[in-house]
Parts: sequence; C-alpha cells; structure tokens
Amino acid sequence: MKHYPGNLFVVAAPSGAGKSSLVKALMELDSQVTHSVSHTTRKPRGQEVHGREYFFITDSEFDRLIKQDAFLEWAHVHGHRYGTSKETIESKITDGHDVVLEIDFQGALQIKRVFPGVVMIFILPPSWEELKSRLERRGEDSPGVIQLRLQNAADEMAQASQFDFVIINEVFERALFDLKAVVHAQRLKYASQSRARAEIFHALNLN
Ligand code: 5GP
Repeated sequence: MKHYPGNLFVVAAPSGAGKSSLVKALMELDSQVTHSVSHTTRKPRGQEVHGREYFFITDSEFDRLIKQDAFLEWAHVHGHRYGTSKETIESKITDGHDVVLEIDFQGALQIKRVFPGVVMIFILPPSWEELKSRLERRGEDSPGVIQLRLQNAADEMAQASQFDFVIINEVFERALFDLKAVVHAQRLKYASQSRARAEIFHALNLN
C-alpha cells in the first residue's frame, strides 16, 4: 500500500487521559500510521530518550526554530514550549503515511487552520477521580506538577467540542477500537479512496 494517501490526525487530551498509550498501541497495530516527534523545552522524565519521545531543546534553540519558521504550530503547555516540525509532517504525508500528532488543543486549533482536512480527535478520561489517580500512579511528576496538570485539564477539556471525534478512555481496549475505527473511516472517504485506489477509480471512469 505504498501509494496510500497520507491523512493527518490530531489527538488531544488532558495529560493522564491515556493519549500516548493509545497512539503507541495504534502504531504497533498499523504500520501505515506514524507520528511526529515534537520539540520541547521541558526536561526528559523517567525513561524518555532525546529523539524518541521528544527533541529536548533549550529555550534559545526553540527561539531559533521559531525564527526559522520551522514549526507548523507551537504552544506554551504546563509552563514549557512544545512545537511540531513542519518539515517532518509534510514529508511523511507526502510519502503516504497517516500522521498522528499528539498535541495540546492550542496546537490542534492552529493545525486546523493550516490543514482544514485534519481529523481532530479528543480523548476524555471517564472521571476526574480516574484522571487524578492515573497521574499519581504514573509517578513521574511531583505533587505540584500534578496539581498544575489537573488545573490545565479543565481548560483543555473545555475545548473538546471543537473536535470532530470524542473517545472516552475508560477501558483501554475499547478506546483503542474506537481510535482504529476513526482512522479506518477516514481512509474510506471518497478523496482518500480515490487517491489510494486510483487504478480502480480510473478503470471505473471515476475521478
Ligand atoms: P508532556 O509534557 O506530558 O509530554 O506533554 C504535555 C502536553 O504537551 C500534552 O498535552 C501534549 O499533547 C502536548 N504537546 C506535546 N507535543 C506538542 C507539540 O508539538 N505541540 C503542542 N501544541 N503541544 C504538544
């Protein structure tokens, strides 16, 4: 399926909703789906590796990339800056990959302006209690940071109505099924199918 057309998906969620685990599981199941490694000014947590979870860069490097117009979008999140590299996304979509961006709502809304065809997916936790206990169980952040993330979660979730799809991550397998369904449905849209299966459309005199 080398010539599969690239679709762009944005997945947003408050931290602790399980977004990264869902996207990771999706990529393991579907080799067509790839993601983009963002740049951030925050420090690595736990087992995170430079170039795998993020490119961990300094404030001045981030400033330089903004000046070079290297970001498709960037935003302040939880007291740090995060940005999506323009070049990576464009080359992956041109290669025919489906690219999933795991970014915050501010970035998601910026992407929507640049790529009106983007599919916007919001992941919600089943409750506040569950969100808090997931953040605590993760054990990667101090109580102060967890508090900040919970405060930001309310602002983040208030934006969910601007997204096309909402997935509630109560049972992981169910949420993964929902995410796969959204990706699959996007690939069945006329514009995607006619690019992906051009020979069939051509033979049927369709364009
Ligand atoms: P974390 O520090 O927990 O990895 O991520 C914090 C938040 O930053 C998450 O909501 C995540 O989606 C968001 N984020 C990660 N990369 C980007 C990016 O490139 N752009 C924007 N706007 N947000 C990002």
